[in-house]
Parts: sequence; C-alpha cells; structure tokens
Amino acid sequence: AKAEGRGNYQFYDAVLGTQIRDRRSLEHDLRLAVSRGEFTVLYQPQMDVMSGELVGFEALLRWNHPERGSVPPDHFIPVAEETGAILAIGDWVLRETCREAAGWERPLRVAVNVSAVQLHGPDFAQTLHEILLQTGLRPGRLELEITETALVRDPARALATLRRLKALGVRVAMDDFGTGYSSLSNLRAFPFDKIKIDRSFIRAVDVNTETAAILRAVLGLGRGLGLPVLAEGVETPAELSFLGAEACQEAQGYLLGRPAPIEDFAEAIRLGRVA
Ligand code: C2E
Ligand code: CA
Ligand code: CA
Ligand code: CA
Repeated sequence: AKAEGRGNYQFYDAVLGTQIRDRRSLEHDLRLAVSRGEFTVLYQPQMDVMSGELVGFEALLRWNHPERGSVPPDHFIPVAEETGAILAIGDWVLRETCREAAGWERPLRVAVNVSAVQLHGPDFAQTLHEILLQTGLRPGRLELEITETALVRDPARALATLRRLKALGVRVAMDDFGTGYSSLSNLRAFPFDKIKIDRSFIRAVDVNTETAAILRAVLGLGRGLGLPVLAEGVETPAELSFLGAEACQEAQGYLLGRPAPIEDFAEAIRLGRVA
C-alpha cells in the first residue's frame, strides 16, 4: 500500500508540474496576445421579444492561440484577472467593439462584458471616456455587462465608478442575475439599467414549473423597479414563447443566433431583424 501511495504522489507531482508549466506558459502567452493580434470579438444578437426586432449585440471575446487553437473565455479570463493582463485585454475589447459598432448601418446597441478587475482598475471611467471620444460611438449605444461579484469586493468604489459611467451616458446591465449572493439588494444599491437573467433560469422553463415561478418573479421584480429584463441562453421556440407570454422584454441565445463574426450579421443589421 505504501509503494502504491508513493506512486500516486509521483503521479500527482507529474500532473501538478505539467499544470504549473501549462499555467506559466498560458500567463506568458496572455501577456503578449493583445500585441500579437490573437484576440477577436464575436457578436451575439439580442432581440426585442414582442416585436422580434434586432436591438443589439453582446460582444464575446475569443483568443486564437497559435498552438492551443481557440481558447474559450472561461479558461483564460480568470487567469488574465489574476495576472492583471485583463486590463490591457479589456481596453482592447472596448476599443474594438466601440469602433466596430460606430460603423454599423443602424445605431444598434453593443453590450460589452466588464471584469471586476477592470471595473476597479486605476481609471476605468476615464479610459472609457477616451475610447468613446476616439471611436465616436454615442455613449447611449454602449451597455456594460457587470456581474454582482464585481461589485462586492469594494461596493463603495464600485458605486462611485458606476455613477461616473452613468454620467458619461453609458448603460449598465446586471449580468448573470440570480447566480450571486444578494442579487436583490445589489439591484437596489447600484444604478442598473437592465437585468440579464442567467441562462440557468431559462433552461426548460416551459416544462419546469419551479423555473417558471422563479422567472415570473424576476420579471415582476423588473416591472416593479422599472428595469427591462433580458433572458439569456434561449435555445428553443418553447422557451421564447414562454418569455413572450410573460412579457419578458428581450432575449438572446442560440435560437436567435450563435456568437459569430459581425460580417455574418450584415443582413440582419440592415433589416433590423434576426434573420
Ligand atoms: P456571459 O457574459 O454570461 O456570456 C454568455 C455566454 O453564454 C457566452 O459564452 C455565450 O456564447 C453563451 N451562450 C449564449 N447563448 C447561449 C445558449 O443559447 N446556450 C448556451 N448553452 N450558451 C449560450 P462565452 O462566449 O463562452 O463566454 C463565457 C463567459 O466569458 C461570458 O459569460 C463572460 O462572463 C466571459 N466573457 C466573454 N467575453 C468577455 C470579455 O470581453 N470580457 C470579460 N471580462 N469577460 C468576457
Ligand atoms: Ca455577459
Ligand atoms: Ca450572462
Ligand atoms: Ca456567465
């Protein structure tokens, strides 16, 4: 048994060694990725449920690593947050999406995810102000998606930053609503313009009565607070028709369009409808 245990330790050492090397090379590559032009932004359409009109897009970051291929954001963003690389990456995403959106045929909204580290960075509001001026995007067309985990580490500072952002004229959405610790009190404490319900509350809402009850409650909350609600992760026609019946304002998900290069949506932008 002892020998076996020893073998296991060697095994774990080897795995750990590989993981650490892997992690170090990931950190190293991440630091260079912006200047090497390895990031791209995909866009996912957002629809007005009632009218079926295209109202905007969420920008979703992709890293095309020369050897690893396409690295999903869930894999590299936490690492980028720990090393601080997210600051340069986040600036790049904002500049790229604002520049892109400023050139659209129709003044649709563009939603960009903002990490906690970025929000609490040295002068996020100032940087954003400069990006808006440089790209010429009307501030009202930009919506920043912020999760409540980004608020809790330093609520006073987060509130001050959100107020500065709002003063610039940009909109702020609470992302992944319902997955945090105190979504309700945070909704009241911070000046959000929209609620994005996490897709775990949309999944099979048409057949699952508990999920339906939660979703109805969130929609009631939105009405009470005067905040529009966007349902993310809509995959089936049944989910979409449930949202319509419950007067959910907006929807996003594979049913309406997968994240894709903006060129794929040229026709949709021109028509103002999800094709
Ligand atoms: P998120 O903000 O909650 O974004 C929604 C995620 O759900 C995206 O994953 C999207 O591709 C996926 N999704 C959309 N519709 C559906 C659907 O119908 N079904 C399913 N199963 N999934 C759907 P993605 O692109 O892999 O991004 C994952 C997360 O990475 C995002 O979650 C966001 O937290 C983060 N992220 C993405 N881009 C950025 C960025 O530019 N900056 C920062 N800080 N975070 C980003
Ligand atoms: Ca988001
Ligand atoms: Ca989300
Ligand atoms: Ca999420």
